[in-house]
Amino acid sequence: MLLHLSTWAEIAQYLQRSRVVVVPIGSNEQHGPTGLLGTDWLCPEIIAHEAEKNADILVAPTFNIGMAQHHLAFAGTISLRPSTFIAAIGDWVRSLAGHGFTRILFLNGHGGNIASIEAAFSETYADASFARQRAGFALKLCNWWDLEGVGELARTQFPEGHGSHATPSEIAITQWALPDSIKHADFAPPIAPSGPIRDAFDFRARFPDGRVGSDPGLATPAKGGELVKLAAQSLVRELVAFSSEPVPA
Ligand SMILES: [Zn+2]
Repeated sequence: MLLHLSTWAEIAQYLQRSRVVVVPIGSNEQHGPTGLLGTDWLCPEIIAHEAEKNADILVAPTFNIGMAQHHLAFAGTISLRPSTFIAAIGDWVRSLAGHGFTRILFLNGHGGNIASIEAAFSETYADASFARQRAGFALKLCNWWDLEGVGELARTQFPEGHGSHATPSEIAITQWALPDSIKHADFAPPIAPSGPIRDAFDFRARFPDGRVGSDPGLATPAKGGELVKLAAQSLVRELVAFSSEPVPA
């Protein structure tokens, strides 16, 4: 079930049978010469929407702008500051928890978001802790590439040239879901350099075409399809485990 294509009455009904919701979360940032700017929010959205086709789960709208200050020297990147991002996640959580959702899983598509999502969780729990109350809800962060079996499959598919940004696995997922948006380029060198991530102009000087350690030319739609199918199954298992986690009295 997709929240944005449901009515309030349908969500009220869903809450009678489940208190779990998935929020795909990512970033809108450059992904090298062939990667779509939306790659990091498209991947978790594609996986969550695939999972929803075969299981009674609820997927919230995608939180599609994240921590991308280091990509701002490339056209099209849109970023939030950590403080804005943390505040916005808090309001999403308070909205959903207010309706009765007690298990909120953020399915993340951008490594640069991890620290700030965890900080947002702490901020949100702190509201309850300082008020000497129980929060009444649990938050969970899952990176799509950490879902059971997915990292192993990606390492098998791309033993070399996976890298850490504009990776062939994430590009493959968007190629599978959006074949009309596949782009082509000659990569020189085939595998991009690696290095530290600092400010936007330092990033552009180190990584001139936007890739970090990767060869996105290895991506194929078929490999993306394999990743999506496996990730969707693992996500459903993750949600079942999360919803049945015992809460101490
Ligand atoms: Zn990415």
